[in-house]
Amino acid sequence: MTDNKSKFRISEERRRILLVEDDIINQEMIRESVSDTYDLIVAETGEEALLIIGEQYETLSIVLLDLNLPGIKGIEVLKKIRSVPVYSRLPVIVMTSDSEAEVECLSLGAIDFIPKPYPASKVILARILRTVELFENRDILRFTERDHLTGLYNKEFFYRYAVQLDLYHKDAQTDAIVFDINHFRTINDRFGKTHGDEILKSIADKALGFVNEAGGIVCRCDADTFMIYCPHCADYGVVLNALSVPLGDGENHVRLRMGVYSDADKTLDIERRFDRAKMASDSVRDNLASPIGIYDNSMREAEMLAYRLINDFPTARRDKQFVVFYQPKFNVRGDEPALCSAEALVRWKHPKLGMVSPGTFIPLFEKNGLIQELDRYVWSETAAQISDWKKRLNVSIPVSVNVSRIDLYDPDLTDRLLGIVKANGLSVEELLLEITESAYTENSDHIVEKVKKLRKLGFKIEMDDFGSGYSSLGMLSYLPIDALKLDMQFIRSAFTGRRDTRLLDTMIRLAASFEVPTIAEGVETAEQVSVLKRMGCDIIQGYYFSRPIPADEFEKFIKVKQPVLV
Ligand code: C2E
Ligand code: CA
Ligand code: CA
Repeated sequence: MTDNKSKFRISEERRRILLVEDDIINQEMIRESVSDTYDLIVAETGEEALLIIGEQYETLSIVLLDLNLPGIKGIEVLKKIRSVPVYSRLPVIVMTSDSEAEVECLSLGAIDFIPKPYPASKVILARILRTVELFENRDILRFTERDHLTGLYNKEFFYRYAVQLDLYHKDAQTDAIVFDINHFRTINDRFGKTHGDEILKSIADKALGFVNEAGGIVCRCDADTFMIYCPHCADYGVVLNALSVPLGDGENHVRLRMGVYSDADKTLDIERRFDRAKMASDSVRDNLASPIGIYDNSMREAEMLAYRLINDFPTARRDKQFVVFYQPKFNVRGDEPALCSAEALVRWKHPKLGMVSPGTFIPLFEKNGLIQELDRYVWSETAAQISDWKKRLNVSIPVSVNVSRIDLYDPDLTDRLLGIVKANGLSVEELLLEITESAYTENSDHIVEKVKKLRKLGFKIEMDDFGSGYSSLGMLSYLPIDALKLDMQFIRSAFTGRRDTRLLDTMIRLAASFEVPTIAEGVETAEQVSVLKRMGCDIIQGYYFSRPIPADEFEKFIKVKQPVLV
């Protein structure tokens, strides 16, 4: 056997061959054929070969295997190699004088066959070269076309193959299906990531089983989202059932939601067809009673509107169609409510569509990144407005702006905000920043660091929509914030139906115990104001005081209420 340790000095670019051969003359013949191109490691018995493979399979390019060995036979070595999944990328060429053995070896997974007596050196080398190259290419392909965890296609290859399927089956009706696990994050938190991975793998297996039966292809496109492209189905309930897997508690099943773009229009890009399926899936988010959404005309209209708004964005920016409105916030701790700040809320005055609500375009712009440009514009406009009030009316009204989750990933965020504040001659406390709670829970370490940095510079942070998502009150003890804005839904549910105000009360008290002031938004009635005030809520914003209004209209509050003088 050649001591492979002594070969470490040889350039790593040389591929390594394991030759399993006990006959010295044969060893020399092979060495002569390949040694210009490859490093040769020789094993003289099957046992030795398996030992070397076990230790070095990752760096071997090919195994040349003589069948007639002392001890365990070559055929057993081959079987053993083929039975271990991690060795699957290792090609084996069998060498024997027994032509009968050829078929058996090929059926056991040998890739090629070199007869004995050996053919000319050139022939041996050519066969080895070709096999190594073939396997390396296949390896690269496998590596990039598959999702590591589940072994399913990744999205790029899935789309590529879906397009090919269309070419083969021009007239076939097809469905684009997307499915997701409901609350996958909760499953991960509850049962652990390893179990979460197991669930993903079992769902992948089920999905593969389904397409093997019904036709089509499947991929995992990200985290807990899968896509199927298949011949048109009559009953999507059957598809959903086929994907069902048990949850770790041994009682329930993992809840999936599914979106279908049925009998998909093949003139559309494949991505667009799956966007439609995704839209359908989003439409049944959290709808446990009916977890299957089918793309329909109303979604088509929403989709058309979305395309239009995205298209119109550059013109809208240029023509200043985006206007900032201001909604006052009142401090209610004293006897009389006192104007203390405002929230800047953007409006789109669209020349054809009229006033478009931010509820329509903000989520859209958050998806495609346009939000960053829009937010920067709103921040600048707001800062300019604060500065204008300061100069003309001699008052400083701090105004909060919304900082979208996407903005927090901008590495220049702090410089940008500082730049805006400076350019308008303001101090950092005058431009308040509202960051939505869900941003904190999404990638909390990153966001918490970012927010800490902003606070260090003097910016005041209000946590928006608190209680709307995945929050825990415990977060309050370590999150860097200056005020808590309770989600509007809290106010809604506390004052309707059974009128249970206990949760609201607890939240306000808890925030107070951490010395974090609370802001209630969406407050519409005098009763709500007095209950909130009694609970110890500090600041109130809502239609009760005023809707969001244009800057010039807002001035009436400043003039009447005369807040903090500069
Ligand atoms: P938000 O930040 O939670 O803003 C509060 C929303 O509640 C505003 O809706 C406001 O008009 C509305 N509102 C205020 N008082 C009341 C009330 O008493 N009753 C009711 N029913 N509603 C009230 P709007 O202006 O439609 O904005 C919706 C959302 O769009 C905002 O929710 C915010 O998330 C986003 N948004 C608005 N402007 C911007 C912006 O410039 N940038 C970013 N990133 N998001 C923005
Ligand atoms: Ca807000
Ligand atoms: Ca809010």
